[in-house]
Amino acid sequence: MDFFPANEMQDYQIFGEFGGVNPSITDSATFTFMTTEKMQQCFEEEVEGCFLYSRHLNPMNKFLADQLKTMEGTEDAQVMASGLGAISTTLLQLCQNGDEIISSRTIYGGSYALMKNFFPRLGINTHFVDITDLEMVKSKITKNTKVIYTETISNPLLEIADLKTLRAICDEHNIKLVVDNTFSPLVVSPYKLGAHVVVYSLTKFVNGLNDCVAGAVCGTKEFVSSMRSVIDGAAMLLGPTMDPLRAASIFKNTRTLHIRMKQHSHNAMFIAENLEKAGIKVFYPGLKSHSQHDLITSMMNKEFGYSGVLTIDCKTKENANKLMMLMQDAKVGLFAVSLGYVKTLFSSPGSSTSSEIPEDVQKEMGMTPGLVRFSMGIDNDPNIALTRIKNCLKQINML
Ligand SMILES: *Cc1c(COP(=O)(O)O)cnc(C)c1O
Repeated sequence: MDFFPANEMQDYQIFGEFGGVNPSITDSATFTFMTTEKMQQCFEEEVEGCFLYSRHLNPMNKFLADQLKTMEGTEDAQVMASGLGAISTTLLQLCQNGDEIISSRTIYGGSYALMKNFFPRLGINTHFVDITDLEMVKSKITKNTKVIYTETISNPLLEIADLKTLRAICDEHNIKLVVDNTFSPLVVSPYKLGAHVVVYSLTKFVNGLNDCVAGAVCGTKEFVSSMRSVIDGAAMLLGPTMDPLRAASIFKNTRTLHIRMKQHSHNAMFIAENLEKAGIKVFYPGLKSHSQHDLITSMMNKEFGYSGVLTIDCKTKENANKLMMLMQDAKVGLFAVSLGYVKTLFSSPGSSTSSEIPEDVQKEMGMTPGLVRFSMGIDNDPNIALTRIKNCLKQINML
């Protein structure tokens, strides 16, 4: 299967009202109708090209959603106010009181906290598993299981979920496979590999400029329409609506996503290879030493590399903390959570992005206190960052 998502996205063109190369922003919450029949029809069913109210759809939000559905090869998409807005509404659309989720335990801390701490209030319980252990996944399936939830590339140890095999497991039990592909847009196309629903935090690579939080849900027409249903749709009724002004700015940034992803990946590969060569323990799916290097290679669209996130082990929390401060002073990048920014960001997962995960579970996951996660930026010459990182590692006696 060859899929060229960047080529598909490049052909998506909507002209502005006066022929603008960018679509016009519809700065309206509500929309006028010329007949009473039409309004009634729009409440009863989705009518192509007909807009009701901006919590449901706004033209600019639809343009961005259409660009993202083109990226994923799905039938439809809906943009959301945040990644967690996309994740929570998707899971609530699929699950109700009494249902169970099987989730990878190495997921974004907020997603973990949502399923671990919040969903039990609604009677939705989650089994957290090592998603690379397929026997373990199967053993947790019950008649109440509705969803298997995973990230394509997980945080912070960059483990890979075998999406094709997970889909086969789902099919045997009528379960939906929901995949968070935030770490690997363009790199992996989960829907093509079997995911029923693909969710994104657009906040990261897809927007890439760190000027907003945003999310998206991509899936079949039937599923995405059900999310928007005025009667019982989670997106419509819980209301994590993106502002159309923001949709316009994200839309424009999708135009450069392929170039950015290539540079993020190029820089991450360069840093990962060279730090590993220098004797540092590095986790990066592009490295031959990564235990699932062959799996991810078989899943990838060829042109975009292995994405921009890598993790190193500095052995102790003290080392990790010192290193991050030194690197910020040396202009390697910025000490901040999040990823997929044009500049390099680094943070220590145990005390930040994965801090919602209890320490004993962190240990089980193979997380050690000295981890430092890098989201490599799109620097023109990664050798400059490499020299600076090595200097900082020398100052803490790691090199
Ligand atoms: C950041 C992130 C989220 C949450 O997205 P927000 O836009 O911050 O709500 C979900 N999943 C992953 C993998 C993330 O990195």
